Amino acid sequence: MDLTFSETETAFRDELRGWLAENPPPPEPSEGGEDASYAWRRDWQRTLYDAGWAAPGWPVEYGGRGASLTESAIYFEEIGRARVPLPANVLGLLLGGPTLMVWGTDEQKDRFLAPILSAEEIWCQGFSEPDAGSDLAALKTRAVKDGDGWVVTGQKVWTSGAQHSKWCMLVARTDGEAAKHKGLTYFLMDMEQEAVQVRPLRQITGEAEFNELFIEEARIPDEHVVGGVGNGWKVALTTLMNERAGLGFALQVRLRQLLDDLFAAAAQRGLLEDPLVADRLADLHIRTEAIRLLAWKGLTDTERYGQPGPEGSLVKWQWSDTNQKLTQLAADIVGPEALTAGTHWSYELLRARGNSIEGGTTEVLKNIVAERVLGLPRLKAVA
Ligand SMILES: Cc1cc2nc3c(=O)[nH]c(=O)nc-3n(C[C@H](O)[C@H](O)[C@H](O)COP(=O)(O)OP(=O)(O)OC[C@H]3O[C@@H](n4cnc5c(N)ncnc54)[C@H](O)[C@@H]3O)c2cc1C
Repeated sequence: MDLTFSETETAFRDELRGWLAENPPPPEPSEGGEDASYAWRRDWQRTLYDAGWAAPGWPVEYGGRGASLTESAIYFEEIGRARVPLPANVLGLLLGGPTLMVWGTDEQKDRFLAPILSAEEIWCQGFSEPDAGSDLAALKTRAVKDGDGWVVTGQKVWTSGAQHSKWCMLVARTDGEAAKHKGLTYFLMDMEQEAVQVRPLRQITGEAEFNELFIEEARIPDEHVVGGVGNGWKVALTTLMNERAGLGFALQVRLRQLLDDLFAAAAQRGLLEDPLVADRLADLHIRTEAIRLLAWKGLTDTERYGQPGPEGSLVKWQWSDTNQKLTQLAADIVGPEALTAGTHWSYELLRARGNSIEGGTTEVLKNIVAERVLGLPRLKAVA
């Protein structure tokens, strides 16, 4: 990939940069807790939407700008550069929408895409279960055919943003007899029904970003099956690849920001001259640059195959590793502040622990890179 921007790409960047400078979001509310912060991010998405900047990479027919892959990457770089938050409906914009564009019927695209873009309807991802995380195909939530729809019963866990969501990308077992990966179906489940109970799970950071979902005979009509009955595994893979590649790009930008903050914190304390600190900062700088270039290279793969490839796993693995190293160095540099609840660095240090689990654990990503990127033989379990 040639990283020199064309005239059109430069014009795109300048237009966005100018717009962001003139339309910054108000400061994040300091009171009102998580709900107030969430409402602030939702309002920010609406502002982006009104100006046509909620998802420039979406095709024009679905309300985007039809931006090229390079322009979409510029979008994330500029959002990061301006230090404004990602839109609230990030799972809908980066995972759900793109999955529907590949697998959805025309009716589904008409019904669901516009409210994702405007943040009118928030989406969450109901994949993981208490006994099915890395081994997603082991999931037990059942969907049973009933008239012109399905009745779903089961439990999901770690469902981020479920408390704000209208729709859940839900993978459930529709055929108990078929082979593990074949008996699954991908549904869009309406969260606003009595049969779906959302219970928050509080994390080490103190916030409850994710939830348990208890589903007791929830109803899903036939027209909310995505990609056909029994095809859930393939549809879910599209969502997961978009998660690793799309979010990966946004996250590498965030990593750069955090590293800049850390350089500033080290400079403030006169630590840039300390050879041990300088060595660790240099290592983080090199890693961050490598991740940035890997993310850009991922765009070439998306261009070639039409969808993100398994290489996105490499970006996600390297990002989580580097973010954990970065926040650990931050704790060494800023000292007790990093261990004081409510401070910037304590939040980053604690939140980073989940990075090597969310969106695929590091061990699983290494397996994917070994087998599907490097073409190494599959490891056979020893009996
Ligand atoms: C902050 C956060 C947000 C999340 N948000 C969501 C969400 O919105 N929706 C959702 O569906 N899920 C979400 N998850 C869940 C996440 O996808 C799972 O936690 C993850 O896939 C791991 O599954 P598990 O927790 O069941 O661990 P397990 O799969 O039980 O893994 C346990 C350990 O075994 C290792 N392991 C497992 N299989 C292998 C293997 N084949 N080879 C080598 N090692 C292996 C793992 O690496 C790990 O160390 C979130 C998780 C976090 C931390």
